[in-house]
Amino acid sequence: MSLANGRRHMALPGPSIMPDRVLQAMHQGAPDIYTTDLRDQVAEMVLDLKYIARTEAHVAIYISNGHGAWEAAMANTLSAGDKVLVPATGHFGLEWAQVARGQGLEVQLLDHGRQSPMDPERIRDVLKTDAAHEIKAVLAVHVDTASSVRSDIAALRRVLDDLGHPALLMVDCIASLGADEFQMDAWGADIMVAGSQKGLMVPPGLGFVFFNDRAHALRQSKECVPFYWDWTARIAPEALWQYFGGTAPTHHLFGLRAALDMIREEGIENIWARHKTLAQSVWAAVEHWGAPMALNIADPAVRSHAVTAVSIGAPDGDRLRDWVRDEAGVTLGFGLGAWSDADPTASGAFRFGHMGHINAHSTLGMLGAVEAGLVALGIPHVSGGVSAAAQVIAKG
Ligand SMILES: *Cc1c(COP(=O)(O)O)cnc(C)c1O
Repeated sequence: MSLANGRRHMALPGPSIMPDRVLQAMHQGAPDIYTTDLRDQVAEMVLDLKYIARTEAHVAIYISNGHGAWEAAMANTLSAGDKVLVPATGHFGLEWAQVARGQGLEVQLLDHGRQSPMDPERIRDVLKTDAAHEIKAVLAVHVDTASSVRSDIAALRRVLDDLGHPALLMVDCIASLGADEFQMDAWGADIMVAGSQKGLMVPPGLGFVFFNDRAHALRQSKECVPFYWDWTARIAPEALWQYFGGTAPTHHLFGLRAALDMIREEGIENIWARHKTLAQSVWAAVEHWGAPMALNIADPAVRSHAVTAVSIGAPDGDRLRDWVRDEAGVTLGFGLGAWSDADPTASGAFRFGHMGHINAHSTLGMLGAVEAGLVALGIPHVSGGVSAAAQVIAKG
């Protein structure tokens, strides 16, 4: 007998759940890419992507994951030897810095640890000393999926503007796009990168780079950019292959079309609101269960609505995750990054992914499975976390 049999719930912070509509749209034979209207369809998808990102900027689509999108953004605008500032707020900021080093960029790391959002004043202090404007870009992660902290991108823009510093503001919305509110133009991002497999509910394999005219001017001033990463042809395509620098990812596009339809039908503001309420229900449960479980980010104002990182003490993070997967059919995310000196492998941490195709019942079910695991494993907690979550959901 297993209580895990039946439809499993994937609560990973990416890849997220793929809706049946997305899967069904992908379930077809190879199209004739030379006679279909796929090229026109991509042009429409570009408009929908801009709607989601709240921007009039350009979008280049790559056959890549988020790492590829990072590399594309930098390859079009920066050159080996250029300096970039990375105000890291967790594993993904540190990883982006690694990718930047791999491109020969000189990284100035401003590590914020794994429990705090970016501090605009610390960033101001660094940029103030850069009178020669050697820092060419600031690489900022909107939501760091490892720490689950959300940073204020508009505040970062204000710092750059106050100082008259010309560094490009590049933002990673790989975890947040389609889940947490993001406004590319109003908040002043020059470049924004995203991937298909988180808030956008499509399998991993598409990378998106949004860029404004300022960023594009930098591309145009560069003599050469690796052919595949060059975004120039991708924003003025005459043929489908130009969008993708080769054969189009046909089935990912079929899936993306279905996902964008779902997003348009719901409306991006409603999607942000749904994620916010469901995230609050997760926090209410964790706070109710109490010690040893604790939210990684203390201040609710800077918690992501797409993912929630939790500490529970080694090795119970791993034990609980294993139990809910094997006994209850729910897959949670593992703790990512060195959690503390006492827990370098983060076995005392785990993450609730709550991005994309999730709703009240799936969230309550996920929390119910965790509460059952706490009981089964004899981990101390105050019972009734699921009821606390239900109160949040009832208020809507
Ligand atoms: C998932 C993620 C990445 C990496 O994306 P891949 O598709 O795995 O390369 C980068 N940044 C953030 C914030 C992410 O959540």
